[in-house]
Amino acid sequence: MTTILKGNILHAPAFGALETVPGGCMVLEDGRIQGIYPVLPERYAACPVTDYGQGLIMPSFADMHLHAPQYPMLGMGMDLPLLDWLDAYTFPVEAHFADNEYARLVYRQLAEDLISSGTTRVAMFSSRHTDATLILMEELERAGVCGAVGKVNMDRSGGPAQEGTEESLRETLRWLEACRFAHIRPILTPRFIPSCTDGLLEALGELARERGLPVQSHLSENQGEIALVARLHPDCAHYWEGYRKFGLWKEGTLMAHCVHSGEAEQEAMAESGVWAVHCAASNVNLCSGTAPVRRLLERGVRVALGSDIAGGDQLAMNRVIAASIRASKVRQMETGEAFLTVPEAYYLGSTAGHAYFGGGGFATGQPLHAIVVDDGEMPRPVRELRLEERFERAVYLMEKRHIRAVYSEGRKVLDRG
Ligand SMILES: [Zn+2]
Repeated sequence: MTTILKGNILHAPAFGALETVPGGCMVLEDGRIQGIYPVLPERYAACPVTDYGQGLIMPSFADMHLHAPQYPMLGMGMDLPLLDWLDAYTFPVEAHFADNEYARLVYRQLAEDLISSGTTRVAMFSSRHTDATLILMEELERAGVCGAVGKVNMDRSGGPAQEGTEESLRETLRWLEACRFAHIRPILTPRFIPSCTDGLLEALGELARERGLPVQSHLSENQGEIALVARLHPDCAHYWEGYRKFGLWKEGTLMAHCVHSGEAEQEAMAESGVWAVHCAASNVNLCSGTAPVRRLLERGVRVALGSDIAGGDQLAMNRVIAASIRASKVRQMETGEAFLTVPEAYYLGSTAGHAYFGGGGFATGQPLHAIVVDDGEMPRPVRELRLEERFERAVYLMEKRHIRAVYSEGRKVLDRG
């Protein structure tokens, strides 16, 4: 079925680019984009139109790194460095997800909050619990969120949140067997090198190879963590080699943070097609540092953004985009590396993440992932704003109440009328 969306269409098709079509028309065929036109071609004149008036039609967000079982601790306990923070706050909270009823309550709220904040794709960590992970996938599917979710593997140094090695592998197979969702796929998720024994990493690498499964984990977030990895794997000159050793460093592997990745590690990412997921808010909250985002991009590393809930304190990705710009400005003051512009950071928080799953942006043939923003109640400007200015303001100021509609994989999943 052919349908038309009308409004001010904005999108970032490439890093740094912003295309605008004021009062434009987007033609959809069964939810897939057929074209964007300044004036609707005559041949579509009889098709049903949803007219968003002065609304901004923009690509939705993709949150490429967040921890679902840390949602209950959002906005709290960011006073410790990474390893202490994990022991003091995170592991005890994640242990609660042995309770399926509790998991259902938290994950339903999280899935609904993602959609109402305009995030339609995710790469997400669950806890080690198989049943709670399946509940999470169900709730995301129900709310209309697409993407990848991983049951966490951790058989070392995890206190109440950890599992045995055999159990971890057995449960991973049980989880994979039960993963039958239309829009949410499994991704192997060794928590990070210090949380996994060699035996577990080796088995997961084998599983990734055998079944062609993608992998997500953490890399070079914090100096204490890097020193611990060096002690655990003295044969590895760099952190990333720990993943390579076990077959987990491969095309499409998502590595969160990369704050302290040096030249060699950056080169290895570019060469192998490993993605960096930049989590600026979390990196500042836990005093980890500011990541060399522009350097990574210049080297040819694919970069996307993550909220890193709950090291990050904001689920809304427009806030994460704003935090990335702010962190990049701190970095510019410290190192001279040029800060991220609004269209650049928006690209990383939307199109780049969508592209991980194929396509991205408002390219022809793509299933629609979009938000419609009504900025009518934002502060009254001194003159009529250009579309580029309204876009910038929306990125900084947008709240749930401004998001009028959300489309995910061609389906309208939120409609405030
Ligand atoms: Zn993380």
